[in-house]
Amino acid sequence: MNVVVMLGAPGTGKGTQAPLVAKRLRIPVVATGDLFRAAARDGTTLGMEARRYMDAGQLVPDEITVRLLLDRLGRPDATHGVVLDGFPRTSIQAKALDDALAAKGERVDVAVLIDAPEEELVRRMSGRWICRAAGHPYHEVFSPPLVPGTCDLDGSELYQRADDQPETIRARMAQQLDALEDVIGHYRRSGVLRTVDGLQGIHEVAAGITRVLAEAGIHIEDAVAEHDPR
Ligand SMILES: [Zn+2]
Repeated sequence: MNVVVMLGAPGTGKGTQAPLVAKRLRIPVVATGDLFRAAARDGTTLGMEARRYMDAGQLVPDEITVRLLLDRLGRPDATHGVVLDGFPRTSIQAKALDDALAAKGERVDVAVLIDAPEEELVRRMSGRWICRAAGHPYHEVFSPPLVPGTCDLDGSELYQRADDQPETIRARMAQQLDALEDVIGHYRRSGVLRTVDGLQGIHEVAAGITRVLAEAGIHIEDAVAEHDPR
């Protein structure tokens, strides 16, 4: 069983890469949000317990999350492994996951960190602008309007919501990076951390991930045969 943990701050493209990795390894990607939603929907005892916390707007305790995760790992489609996206978020969770996997004779095989400088992430995350008339979305870097500050579709003014402004993003990012550093430290100490440069394009990052997985002994057989859309 291959257990791959995907790590990266918001803006690194982790959420895009995790399903790609999972698809190429032919194993499911397990994101904790989906895990909670599925469990609540299935109505299991554990799921209902998780749901109580979610309904109250509280964080689901680590112990419940890890049990849900183990339950998920026991499903038939996860026989050959999983790609984890969004878990662990803290070194305490990472330790709990290690212990739970060890009890099954398994371990995290590789933790892939998509790394990018904080300022670049702030730039990517804070570039969102929307138009006053209809909320049409733009991004300074990825999908800029033809005329700066003006909607291509209706000519109305573009503005940034408080949530998308650099100061807000920077503050939120600092918190998330602290937690991420904690998890990175955990996997560095256990020797399974591999880093991919997140400043590259999406295809280069994907290729970088394939390379570090191979270094960790996880080979994507069909990687070379895969169609490259460029
Ligand atoms: Zn518009």
